[in-house]
Amino acid sequence: MTDALTIDPNQSALVTGATGYVAGWIVKNLLDAGVTVHAAVRDPDNADKVAHLKQLEQEAPGTLKLFKADLLDPGSYTDAMAGCSVVFHTASPFILSFDDAQKDLIEPARQGTLNVLDSVNKTESVKRVVLTSSCAAIYGDNIDLETSGKPALDETDWNRTSSLTHQPYSYSKTLAEQAAWKTVERQSRWDLVTINPSLVLGPGINPRSTSASLGMFKQFASGQLKAGVPAFYIAAVDVRDVADAHIKAAFTPQAKGRYIVSGHDSSFIEFAEIMRREFGDGYGFPKRILPKPLVWLVGPLADKAMTRAMVSRNVGHPIRFDHSKSERELGVQYRPLQESITDFFNQLLETGQIPKASG
Ligand code: NAP
Repeated sequence: MTDALTIDPNQSALVTGATGYVAGWIVKNLLDAGVTVHAAVRDPDNADKVAHLKQLEQEAPGTLKLFKADLLDPGSYTDAMAGCSVVFHTASPFILSFDDAQKDLIEPARQGTLNVLDSVNKTESVKRVVLTSSCAAIYGDNIDLETSGKPALDETDWNRTSSLTHQPYSYSKTLAEQAAWKTVERQSRWDLVTINPSLVLGPGINPRSTSASLGMFKQFASGQLKAGVPAFYIAAVDVRDVADAHIKAAFTPQAKGRYIVSGHDSSFIEFAEIMRREFGDGYGFPKRILPKPLVWLVGPLADKAMTRAMVSRNVGHPIRFDHSKSERELGVQYRPLQESITDFFNQLLETGQIPKASG
């Protein structure tokens, strides 16, 4: 399928949340292909937030048009969508710290998706929507793999265990994706393809994005976890591979349904081992796994998201994803994990977000 991928440069595509970490590479790929990109952002006048997008346009044959839109304003994507054949809906809060899960996560994710799709229903030119969902809509906790009885989770699996009080980010992504599938069923003009990435790593086009991916990785890189890490198993994928999957999902006519986009089944301690191998011992990368009872006891005091239920259902439980559909149908090729981690760490060093180790 990939060999047959052709992108007609004489078309326009909307990218929602264009300032985001994942969206940056999607915008770049589209501009490189000569496409006119309608970049919907919350504040197009914020020069700091859009400078990297304008820079991309300077270096590529495509054209960038900025639009102001907010997930919580009904109809606010309609102008940005006019004349577009494809909509990439990436905007959704990916934050680990919040006050009110309903207001800060669920509403922008679910209601925002419905608002965007309502505009799609009113925009005749749109033929395909690529929704950035998540592996968080596939599973709620690592223990779900054991209860599934399968060797790895696949696109037929759904998160059935998250709620407003337990793993609310995962709940927000599940509700948003479910709402999108319900909406597409009611008509036949446009179709929906979802990309379900695991934890996204790797260098951002905007190295200072507020994505939780950066926050999480900086914790490893800055020595904050020197005392050790819980036995958290986690799957990860490079941000450039995620963007590539979105582009292939948009322009491969036969692409259909959900696609798990996840390069590697890994763990926090493996991330640390790769970093130590590449960058030495001077950064305080964690060396040991903390005992689960200790994590259960003190985890909730250190981090609001690390509840006892979360620790019980995740720490020490491996997770595995079957990404073969993305390889087979979209032709996605996954970079080695070591490359994503090394490039990510180097970007944080180069941009001064972590201090260089002395000596
Ligand atoms: P990000 O850098 O924080 O991007 C999120 C984008 O959503 C930002 O552009 C943000 O705009 C926008 N946004 C948030 N609330 C909004 C609102 N009320 N109205 C309009 N725009 C709003 O995070 P990311 O990691 O790139 O995430 C992008 C997508 O990938 C999300 O759907 C996320 O759930 C999904 N995903 C991410 C990962 C990961 O590990 N990073 C894994 C799986 C799925 P501002 O710049 O204005 O804040």
